[in-house]
Amino acid sequence: MAHRPYIVGNWKMNGSRAMLTEARAIDRGAQRCPDVQVALAPPFPFLALLREETSNIGIGGQDCHTAAKGAHTGDVSAAMLADIGADVVIVGHSERRRDHGETDAIVKAKAEAALAAGLGVIICVGETLDERDAGQAEAVVGGQVDASLPLVQGAAEAAALGKLSLAYEPVWAIGTGRVAAVEDVIAMHASIGARLVAAFGDAAAKVRILYGGSVNGENASALLASPGVGGALVGGASLTADAFLPIVAAAA
Ligand code: PEP
Repeated sequence: MAHRPYIVGNWKMNGSRAMLTEARAIDRGAQRCPDVQVALAPPFPFLALLREETSNIGIGGQDCHTAAKGAHTGDVSAAMLADIGADVVIVGHSERRRDHGETDAIVKAKAEAALAAGLGVIICVGETLDERDAGQAEAVVGGQVDASLPLVQGAAEAAALGKLSLAYEPVWAIGTGRVAAVEDVIAMHASIGARLVAAFGDAAAKVRILYGGSVNGENASALLASPGVGGALVGGASLTADAFLPIVAAAA
């Protein structure tokens, strides 16, 4: 069965109690688009509040630790996210890879921790501008995909893969207003899809591949209508209902 398009807002380190108004408006807008799966990933302090204030959207963490608990000051585990009612967690965002030195191996362990906690997981991959200019984009992203995919085995595999999404986010397109060309997005999603088939066989069809990088209300329709694009991971344009809901509507 085909997935609903998945539109996920990543608030990054933005948000406040006052911004709950936006979350509520996004929640009401999502109710009008039942054919689209919508989620918001606010900073940790606001997760439980958003969970309480919304009922039509998923709630996600922006990161989780590889361990379920322990002596890791400042970190949050996937089990804790699940405990407060989160649905999903983003792992391997390029800002985490850049600011916290996260490697593919760490991202893989985080993805496995998320699935073990029963959460959906969105694994982010993407090349830098230098890598694209050097003609290495598919090799770089392919390497990230191969090394970041969680190990899922046996009967649990089918269920786990339905909870897994990849987000192709060219680093040079994040927060820059410079969106990737549709033909490049199609090519990269096909390349990622082939890696997923190599890893998971036919069950790879359960994995969604999202695009992220300067998605907005104007460019969303063309991106979301492209073959292989199962949704969008949205940063800046997810901070207000006015900016985010046109993207949700474009997916409907
Ligand atoms: C992101 O950070 O995941 C992102 C896609 O940001 P933006 O939409 O602002 O480019």
